[in-house]
Amino acid sequence: MQTYKGKSVFGGIAIGRIRVYQKNRQQVRRTRIEDTEAELARYERARIETVNQLKVLYEKALVEVGEENAAIFEIHGMMLEDGDYNESVQNMIQSNCINAEFAVAATGDNLSQMFAAMQDEYMRARAADIKDITERIIGNLQGTAKEDKVVGEPAIIVAEDLAPSETVQLDKKLILSFVTIQGSPNSHTAILARTMGIPALVGTSIPPEADLDGKMAIVDGTTGVLYVEPEEGLLREMEGRKEEEVRKRELLLEMKGQESITADGHRIRLYANIGNIDDLAAVLENDAEGIGLFRSEFLYLQRDTYPTEDEQFAIYKKVAETMAGKTAIIRTLDIGADKQCEYFGLEKEENPALGCRAIRICLKRPEIFKTQLRALYRASAFGRLAIMYPMIISPEEVRRIKKITEEVKRELRTQEIEYGEPEQGIMIETPAAVMMSRELAREVDFFSIGTNDLTQYTLAIDRQNQNLEEFYDPHHPAILRMIEMTVQNAHAEGIWVGICGELGGDREVTDSLLRMGVDELSVSPGNILPLRKAIRETQLREEGFGKETQVN
Ligand code: PEP
Ligand code: MG
Repeated sequence: MQTYKGKSVFGGIAIGRIRVYQKNRQQVRRTRIEDTEAELARYERARIETVNQLKVLYEKALVEVGEENAAIFEIHGMMLEDGDYNESVQNMIQSNCINAEFAVAATGDNLSQMFAAMQDEYMRARAADIKDITERIIGNLQGTAKEDKVVGEPAIIVAEDLAPSETVQLDKKLILSFVTIQGSPNSHTAILARTMGIPALVGTSIPPEADLDGKMAIVDGTTGVLYVEPEEGLLREMEGRKEEEVRKRELLLEMKGQESITADGHRIRLYANIGNIDDLAAVLENDAEGIGLFRSEFLYLQRDTYPTEDEQFAIYKKVAETMAGKTAIIRTLDIGADKQCEYFGLEKEENPALGCRAIRICLKRPEIFKTQLRALYRASAFGRLAIMYPMIISPEEVRRIKKITEEVKRELRTQEIEYGEPEQGIMIETPAAVMMSRELAREVDFFSIGTNDLTQYTLAIDRQNQNLEEFYDPHHPAILRMIEMTVQNAHAEGIWVGICGELGGDREVTDSLLRMGVDELSVSPGNILPLRKAIRETQLREEGFGKETQVN
C-alpha cells in the first residue's frame, strides 16, 4: 500500500480504481528530414485518418447532442479539406525539409493567431477550432490520438492539474473523486468538486514515477490522504466509514423543510452556488432556499464557440422554472484569470488576475455582454431571476452596465419579445468595491460578497498559488472588517447583502457573519443542510448579540 498526502477540498470517502488523466499536450520537436515525399505522404495519411475520426465523432454527437452541437465536427473536417491549412503544411515540409509534426504545429499556431486577431466574433472563434484539429493531427502522426479521457466505470481521477475548462467537460457520472498534484483549495477546480459534493484532494505529493493507472484506491477527503492498493483491513474500515457517512447524511435530511433560523430567532437565507444546470438536482435535493450564485461562465467554458442567445435563454429559463418562484441569481460571465476561454481570443497577459476579466470583458466587448443580457432578460419572464455583475470597482461601471441593460430592454420591446425585470446586484470582491460600497449601494438592489477574490485582492495573494497557502487567510481581520463595512453600508441604503464566496460556508465564522447582519449565505449544495443544522444550533443573543459585532 502507498499513501500520498494532499489538501482536502471536500470531505467524504471515495473507493474505486484510479484513472490517470493525461492532458492532450503533445511535445513537438523540429527535425530535419531527407525524404520530403515520404513526409508529405505521412502527413496525408494522418490528415485522412483525422477526417475519418471527425466523421465518426460527428455521427456520435448527432445522436447524443443533436445536429446543432454536432456541427462543430463537420466544421473541423471541412477545415482539413480546406486549401490554406494543407498548403501551409505541405509548403513547410517541402521548402524547409522539416518533419510533418512541426509543420502542422507551426501552421496551427500561425492560423489560430490570425483568426484570434480578426474583428468578426465568429471568425475569432475559429482560432480554437484550428488548435483542436492541429492537436488531433499531431496525435495521429505520433500515434497518441485524442480520445475520450474519462470513459467506462466511475473512477478516482488523478491528474497533474485540471483547468476549470477541463473539469467542466468531464462526465460527472464517471467521477468518484478528483486528486490533483498541483492546485490550491481556492481554485475553481476545487470549487467545482465542492459543488459536485465529491471527495477531492489538491496539492497531493504523488511522485512523477508513481504508476497509478487502474489501481484500487481510497480517497479520504477528511484527512486528505490517498491510499493506493489499500490493505484489506483498511479497505473494510473505510467501507464502514462510508456507510456511516451515508447514515449521517440521512440524519441531515431531517433539516429539509426546516427554516434557517438561529435558536434565538435570527433568520438568514441559505442559498446554493452552482455552475451548471446539472447542479439543479442537488439544489432541490438539499433544499436550498434559492440560488445565490450561478457561475454562468461555465456555460462558455464547456465549448469551443460562444453560446448563442437562444442556447443561453433555454438554460436560464430552465433555472427560473425549476426554482419555481424562488430567487436564482445568475452572475454574468466571469471569464479571465484562471478561467480562460480560447475562442474569446484575449491577449495573453502578464497578470491575468489583474487583467481583462469579468465585467471588463463585457464592457469592452458589449456584443458578447448583450447576447447574455438578452437571454437573461427574456428568461426572467419565466421566474424570479436576478442578475449579478462580477469584479466591480466603481459606481461608474454600474452606470455603464445600466445603459447597456436599458438598450437591451429597448431592443426587446421594439422586437416585441417578452422580458422580465430581474433584480440587479453586484459582487463585492475588490477592495475598491468595499470602499465605495455606500455609493454602490445606491445603484443596485443587492450585494453579494465574493470572499475568494476579496481575499486574493486584499491580501495581494494569488488564490491559485499553492506555495502561498499559509498566507492566504480568509479569516484575516482585514477581510472580516471589510465584510462588516459592506453590510453596514448596504443596510444604510436599504439593500440586502449576501456572501457567495467560500467563507459563507465556513462554520468557524458563521456566528460572526450572522452578528454582522449578513442577510444571505450562498454555499455549495452539499453544505446547505449541515450549515442549516449549525445555524439552528447557534445562539446569538446569549453571547451578547449586538455587542459582538466588533471584529478584532
Ligand atoms: C468569489 O470571488 O468569492 C466568487 C464567489 O467568485 P469566484 O470564486 O467564481 O471568482
Ligand atoms: Mg470572484
